[in-house]
This record gives sequence, C-alpha cells and structure tokens, in this order.
Amino acid sequence: MSTASQLIATAQSVVEDLVAANRILYRQKVVDGFGHVSARHPVDPERFLLSQSKAPGSVERSDILVYGLDGEAIDAPGRRVYLERYIHSAIYAARPDVMAVVHSHSPAVIPFGVTDVPLRPVMHVCGFLGAHVPVFEIRDGFGPATDLLIRSQALGAAMAQSLGDAPVVLMRGHGSTAVGVSVAHAVYRAVYTEVNARLQADSMRLGPVNFLTAEEAYAAAETNASPNVLTRIWDLWKSEALA
Ligand SMILES: [Zn+2]
Repeated sequence: MSTASQLIATAQSVVEDLVAANRILYRQKVVDGFGHVSARHPVDPERFLLSQSKAPGSVERSDILVYGLDGEAIDAPGRRVYLERYIHSAIYAARPDVMAVVHSHSPAVIPFGVTDVPLRPVMHVCGFLGAHVPVFEIRDGFGPATDLLIRSQALGAAMAQSLGDAPVVLMRGHGSTAVGVSVAHAVYRAVYTEVNARLQADSMRLGPVNFLTAEEAYAAAETNASPNVLTRIWDLWKSEALA
C-alpha cells in the first residue's frame, strides 16, 4: 500500500465530509466549475486532502488526493492537480488551528474586494466576519501583470499573511478563501460570506446600514460555532448532497 493510500485509509470520515463539501458548495452556488475545498489530515498535520482537478459538483471519493505542505501531491502520477492548490498548502503551513479551507470565486463577494466598501456582518449567522475582513492585494508583492491566481507557494504565503488570524480573506478581482476548525465549519463560513455579501449590497441600495457591533458579531459567532448549531445545518446539507 502506498503512503497516500495509507493516509486516505486513516481519514475515511474526513474524505466523506470532503466529497459532501464539494457538492454542498456547488448546490449553494459558492463554487461553479471552479473553486475547491480541502481538509488537513486528521492524523498527520503535515498533510492535507484535496480533490484532483475536477469541477466540485462531480467530486467522488476516488478523486481525493494527499498533498504535502509544499503544495505537491503525493503518489499521484498522472492525476491532474488544481493550479491554486498553494492556497491550501500555505494556509495549513501558516495556521496550525486551521483544519479546512474553502476557496471560491462566489460572485456577491467580488464587489467588496474591488471597492473601498468593507464587507461587514449584517446578520447574526454572519457574525464570524467580525470587525474587519482583510483583502489580499496581489499587486503589492507581485506587480500589475499577474493572472491573479495563487499559482506558487510564495503567492500562497503572501495570501496567508493577509488572512492573518481571520476566518475569511477577500482576494481582489478574484474571489475569497474561508477557513475553519472542521470541514463543516469552513463550508458554513464560505456559504454565509456569500450570503452576507448579497444582503449587505441589498441593504446599501436601500439606505444607511445598521451593521452588527463588534460585540454582537463576536457573541453571534460564538453561538453559531457551537457543535449543536453547526451540526444541524451541516447534517441537512450533507444528507441532501450525498442523496
Ligand atoms: Zn481562484
């Protein structure tokens, strides 16, 4: 048995969650043909699990590959890998607390990365956004002529630095990346980042917006991160996605 096969065998429940997460994110319109979701290996923190290059809505168990924190797939000859896998490797290297990462190009978030209007929580389920959502500006370190993609570990490290200890980072002109302490947690944050962006833009069209205070955002985030609350929505999404 190869190293990768052994690592997959010791992570079966996380692999199942990852397959579900791919399909959930597609059903929730957070990802389309692009975007990806990964999980840190539950036994070996120096490895993570991510599909081979494939549209998320059609990912199956056999698509899940094992990667090192350098962003390279292990024992995967002939398998195509995502160009932007370094988003995941760099965040796992920088943030030991992160167990799952979702990267997407979800559309409602984009305006908040290309204007000076900050993304801020407008409802309780989005309280995790907190007082400040960072924006990664790729031009700062890499000039005005990139294709905006995170196609190297150096680009991933710069993006992870912008993320800092936040739950979400916006990527100017590109998309966003959400992290969590479990696959369910990261998926929840990715879905509700998109929801908040849509609601905030709707609210701003109506008039001045009464945002959550920093204290309200913190208290709401604590409530919604509790396993009881998260499990209720995750179990529903997962049963629909794997049906
Ligand atoms: Zn991307």
